[in-house]
Amino acid sequence: MHHFRYVGQNLHCESVDLAEVARLYGTPTYVYSAATMADNYTRLAGSLAGLDAQICFAMKANSSLAVLRHFARLGAAFDLVSGGEIRRVLAAGADVRRSVFAGIGKTEGELRLALEQGIFSFHVESEPELARLNHVAGQLGVKAPVAFRINPDVDAHTHAKITTGKSYNKFGIPLAAAAAAYAAAAKLPHIQVKGVQMHIGSQLTSIAPFVEAVTKVVTFVEALKRDHGISYFSIGGGIGIIYQDALASGQSAWWETQPTDRRPITPEAYGAALVPLLRPLGLKILLEPGRFLVGNAGVLLTRVEHLKRGAGKNFLIVDAAMNDLVRPAMYDAYHEIVPLHRDTTRRAFTADVVGPICESGDCFAHDRQLQEVGEGEYLALMSAGAYGAAMASRYNTRALPAEVLVNGGAFELVHARETFEQMTANEKIPAFLK
Ligand SMILES: *Cc1c(COP(=O)(O)O)cnc(C)c1O
Repeated sequence: MHHFRYVGQNLHCESVDLAEVARLYGTPTYVYSAATMADNYTRLAGSLAGLDAQICFAMKANSSLAVLRHFARLGAAFDLVSGGEIRRVLAAGADVRRSVFAGIGKTEGELRLALEQGIFSFHVESEPELARLNHVAGQLGVKAPVAFRINPDVDAHTHAKITTGKSYNKFGIPLAAAAAAYAAAAKLPHIQVKGVQMHIGSQLTSIAPFVEAVTKVVTFVEALKRDHGISYFSIGGGIGIIYQDALASGQSAWWETQPTDRRPITPEAYGAALVPLLRPLGLKILLEPGRFLVGNAGVLLTRVEHLKRGAGKNFLIVDAAMNDLVRPAMYDAYHEIVPLHRDTTRRAFTADVVGPICESGDCFAHDRQLQEVGEGEYLALMSAGAYGAAMASRYNTRALPAEVLVNGGAFELVHARETFEQMTANEKIPAFLK
């Protein structure tokens, strides 16, 4: 559930009229609901009652400093994937000491920074990485806490670019090789074996693959506890959200209309399926949700530039583009698109909703049915809080979009739109061309 709904004819985020935000800060602009993030976090944490659990927000999904601070206040730690993300956690005034460092290509500099900041654990994905970490920890005269990422060879049934738990993916080490990897790690002088990790993919829409993965590794996890005294098991992230009926899913009534066998994952169902499998282990359990915590808590506001009537096709040209929200171009992702001002007296029409970038892939929706809208009117792309702003680029010399955080009836600009000077500040003309 989330806090985006029409009040009268106008789409609101909590108690804020989104058209007011668009008028004040321009478009394209991401708007996030603090209450939705808090609800998502609290529901998930509540569903894990009975476990000694720590939620580590996978901040690559949305690394805005304001969002990080909000989750830190709620009690979250972080799953981070780069030195830049460590520095973001620090800049948000949050705690690296409960956070974990994932990724298959951590540099020496990144390993050093994480050790200096007292990272909770490194999620190691290969033996060469382990050797490098042992070396860096030795230079600093410390022991590096580690967990191996196990690849359980489970099909997450999600998009190919975000499935990670099959043996042909680049992630983790196979279960069959894991015992040897732990034995080797235990012999290294600057490594402290601390846990075990897995993450099978993103945007999972069924609980079965999570259950299958945990079931597959549980015996091995018990052996690690016995033989290596590990203290935690990280079960990764990947809980999917609703994209198709995004707006309707903000209302509890919508959930009641969904057939039980096709109901999207709820935190309650996730907890109910996994807690009984995990509790007997007697380990601390880490979760690394990214999309679930923020995906439905954000929208991308955009303005209609033109309605172009083509040969047998309408194109609604908007001022947001693939550089602002790349998910449709990159993952064939669906985002529901709704007008900020709903007028049921208007006709519906069908259009491709496209950005202005010179690529055919710069398309948010094909043949989408919408209320007829024209130049200057605003639209919202729903469910854009995860992998939206965080993946934005400056392609076509378009400034990174603005970001706004709503809290009840108040809202604040938390990331100002870039200026041209900021975009080009690090560039220069070389001497030979002067
Ligand atoms: C991306 C990632 C996550 C978060 O995935 P979501 O689908 O956003 O929940 C968690 N753990 C690891 C290791 C990741 O790479």
